[in-house]
Amino acid sequence: MSSTTKYIFVTGGVTSSLGKGIISSSLGKLLQARGFTVTIQKFDPYINIDPGTLNPYEHGECYVTDDGAETDLDLGHYERFLNSPTSQANNITTGRIYNNVITKERKGEYLGKTVQVVPHITDEIKRNIMQLGESGQFDFIINEVGGSVGDIESLPFLEAVRQVRWELGTNNALVIHLTLIPYLAAAKELKTKPTQHSVKELLSYGIQPDILVCRTEYPLPMEIRKKLALFCNVNLNSVIEAIDAETIYDVPLLMRKEKLDERVLAKLKMVTKQEPDLEAWKGFLGKLKNPTDEVTIGLVGKYVSLPDAYKSIAEAFIHAGAQNDCKVKLRWISSEEISKESVAEVLGGLHGVLVAPGFGERGLEGKIEAIRYVREQKIPFLGICLGMQCAVVEFSRNVLGLEASSTELNGKTKHPVIDMMEEQKKITTKGGTMRLGAYACKLKKGSKAAAVYGDSLIHERHRHRYEFNNKYLDQIEEAGMKAVGINPDSQLVEIIELKDHPWFIGVQYHPELKSTVMNPHPLFVKFVEAAVKNKKNDLQ
Ligand code: GLN
Repeated sequence: MSSTTKYIFVTGGVTSSLGKGIISSSLGKLLQARGFTVTIQKFDPYINIDPGTLNPYEHGECYVTDDGAETDLDLGHYERFLNSPTSQANNITTGRIYNNVITKERKGEYLGKTVQVVPHITDEIKRNIMQLGESGQFDFIINEVGGSVGDIESLPFLEAVRQVRWELGTNNALVIHLTLIPYLAAAKELKTKPTQHSVKELLSYGIQPDILVCRTEYPLPMEIRKKLALFCNVNLNSVIEAIDAETIYDVPLLMRKEKLDERVLAKLKMVTKQEPDLEAWKGFLGKLKNPTDEVTIGLVGKYVSLPDAYKSIAEAFIHAGAQNDCKVKLRWISSEEISKESVAEVLGGLHGVLVAPGFGERGLEGKIEAIRYVREQKIPFLGICLGMQCAVVEFSRNVLGLEASSTELNGKTKHPVIDMMEEQKKITTKGGTMRLGAYACKLKKGSKAAAVYGDSLIHERHRHRYEFNNKYLDQIEEAGMKAVGINPDSQLVEIIELKDHPWFIGVQYHPELKSTVMNPHPLFVKFVEAAVKNKKNDLQ
């Protein structure tokens, strides 16, 4: 194996949403399954410095890494497929690039030169492309270039790709272009013209794709493959069919069948006799596709009309379901639908309820009603971040009889059981007050949480401003809600559970961000297990 890092670029054409993230992750998985070390990085052409401030309705969830970076949701796919953590270095936006360049300019680092898109912006992009590779840790760096070829904002990135490829040479860098082959029902034909145009556009930037990955609803017949090869200057065996899959987790196997990994290795002159070892992956797919049980879990949240807003939660349920040989049907419930009157009807028949994370919401009272219902009816409950905070508010109100709330929703509440910490109140920049990234948490012996994790010290990822207010800790614990996970450095409460309930856990962090195919998150695994038991009336 060569010690130099190879660079693979994945561009997209014809339309957005073709699944560059899944193709990149699947190729990464195949290379990893052959024993190579791989990481994937994403270049996003928007001006936001990071996706932290983007509305999840528009952009889907904000994925948080161990080092506290707020990143694009594709990084979640990279981690779920490759089972290895990413970091800030894996996600670069136009905003960050410009920010770096402008900061350098202000410091006088350009020595009076006129600062321009070419070469200064493109050089900064190149520096970022090469950064992870320089660590020497990786055989392959897959670079997903966000946006579609032809977008104005992608241009500097494509120019940087052209330069990197020219500098590294064709044995060290290659370009995969992901495109769409639409099917015209009236003509009963698959159409290659949009792909030809998109490749022509790429060529006009000086980039000849080495491999075409073609999204299609129908198999690509040989004559279509030949046409694409001839008109797009690619080898026939480098026209790869990416047919619609039943689940994203099938894609590595479909890409293997089409020999995408072999083509990449051949083009980059990487000789390996090792076939990819996909046994564990196939084992997961086998369990996923042959469930022996089925449960319905309610996901109570705000952004239920855009399921991408809760991408990692939905994926964590897929991993946990497979582990339990159980199909998990998610019922997306808007918290605004829930009131005292409607709660029994809306949540009736569910085997478990998850109350989702969120920020400054109107639907909060609905979440609190939902939690009261599942607490009283002894339905398995998992509260994540805002979901945990709501559980504390609900308990303080309905069990302790306090006029309680979170100061996020009511700054004048008499009993701020969820509040901002003093140090945080001083920081005013947007996003600046968040607790972000991985923090340690000590689990109390004998607690349900400790049994779930089978461990006493864990590290989980956070993204929130408000915290459990320790002034109320004794009172809340005495009444039966136990703080069973504590941050050893700050003493902040990270996990609560109820003493008199078969399965009621709230966590201040986001367990969904660490669930992967090969390592389903224990909280989700045990929550699904509890839902199965609940369905069978077997929950103690
Ligand atoms: N809005 C809450 C806070 O900032 C919860 C955030 C979340 O659910 N991620 O603390």
